[in-house]
Amino acid sequence: MEIHISRSAVENNLKLIKKIVGENVRISSVVKANAYGHGIETYVPVAKEAGIDHFSVFSYNEAIQVYKITKKTADIMIMGWIGTSQLKDVVRKGIEFYVFNLERLNDALSEAKTLKKPAKIHIEVETGMNRTGLSKKDFKLALRIILDNIKHFEIKGLCSHLAGPESIANHVRVKNQINTFGTFKAELEKNGLAPEYCHLACSAAAVCYPGSRHNLVRIGIMQYGFWSSREVFLRYLHNKSGFDNPLKRVITWKSEVMSVKTVKTGKFISYGTTYLASEDIRTAVVPVGYSFGYSRSLSNRGRVLINGVRCSVIGLVNMNMITIDVTRAGDVKPGDEVILIGEQNDMAISVDSFSEITQQINYEILSRLSRDIPRIVVE
Ligand SMILES: *Cc1c(COP(=O)(O)O)cnc(C)c1O
Repeated sequence: MEIHISRSAVENNLKLIKKIVGENVRISSVVKANAYGHGIETYVPVAKEAGIDHFSVFSYNEAIQVYKITKKTADIMIMGWIGTSQLKDVVRKGIEFYVFNLERLNDALSEAKTLKKPAKIHIEVETGMNRTGLSKKDFKLALRIILDNIKHFEIKGLCSHLAGPESIANHVRVKNQINTFGTFKAELEKNGLAPEYCHLACSAAAVCYPGSRHNLVRIGIMQYGFWSSREVFLRYLHNKSGFDNPLKRVITWKSEVMSVKTVKTGKFISYGTTYLASEDIRTAVVPVGYSFGYSRSLSNRGRVLINGVRCSVIGLVNMNMITIDVTRAGDVKPGDEVILIGEQNDMAISVDSFSEITQQINYEILSRLSRDIPRIVVE
């Protein structure tokens, strides 16, 4: 079983994103959750070669992975979790990080003092997501602390996160967030502080809300070749002729047939009684199961490609195996290629189609792809 990462697709997607946001907006490549399942160690070098020099991660551990790969040739930003004992190393290595409460700010200050090295901070403010970020009141207190200790800080950014710009249903809330962010920015400037970057936009906002771009956008899902939602794609198409999708899927997930057999009419297949053969059928077992991220909810519903034919998953998805009905797929033998996500001849299985079946969204399916599957870069 292998996951292929297409270099040309990455180049294509980054070029498109650049065209959308403009030359003066820096792109931070979001590689949390093992680069959305693409494999942080595989994906980061490919993005780097395609011109990316800023990476965003969720946690310290992910930051260290990127740090080892990029060897100080890219900026790294931790948007979320850093254990108290890990903060010293973050400051020492010059890794940038979010400050979303006064505790984190004070911890950063004390590490910066001990190390005699300024902490590179991004001030995260609460604009309406109500997850993390400094309230107006705490922001004022934070400004005092920062101004009184200015030599211990490098103010890399002012930032916030939008609560669902991929859906028009959230339009008013998102608009209000963008405005609120503006008032924080003005307040910061009034105090004589000029952050290097102001950033608010994820993929969906970068496309749908130009006013949220400022001078840096944090791009996750789009660089991997997926629109955040169908609405975002439609918004992109507005004022364009045609319906061509300019994004290219980066990932292909493939396996091979492990064993083939005939099952007689009236027999149940795999555990239990969820699938009854209503005719004599040919089945192929593929060594992929829920332990690799092939969701159990695809039992009796998933589709794969074999011999260029779309074939059904029958019975339950097991821990390491699925059974496929290959009755109409011609001569299928052990070793034949099986496409779980990707293309074969003119047929395609998209991550979107999984989502429609299982209600899981792209993000979740991708990020659950097992780390044990080898990732290979292809052109
Ligand atoms: C994941 C994440 C992003 C990227 O979101 P996409 O929709 O994948 O572009 C941006 N900012 C923050 C804070 C995130 O957690």
